[in-house]
Amino acid sequence: MAEDRTLKCKECGRDFTFTAGEQEFYSEKGFQNDPARCPACRRARKAARYQTYSQTGLRGGYTMYRARRM
Ligand SMILES: [Zn+2]
Repeated sequence: MAEDRTLKCKECGRDFTFTAGEQEFYSEKGFQNDPARCPACRRARKAARYQTYSQTGLRGGYTMYRARRM
């Protein structure tokens, strides 16, 4: 039976708990590696990815604006 483990987040350097339930979830999904980041940093990274999407959207709007001027 798996036990809770304490891992160090490579993003913020803080310790976080990799619970037995999460370990089970990971092995069910076939993940070989331990999570490198704490839940808070994982959320932050997801938010950053959304920001990239909206930046791409802005660039598309800029292209449209230039096309109208030409
Ligand atoms: Zn972290």
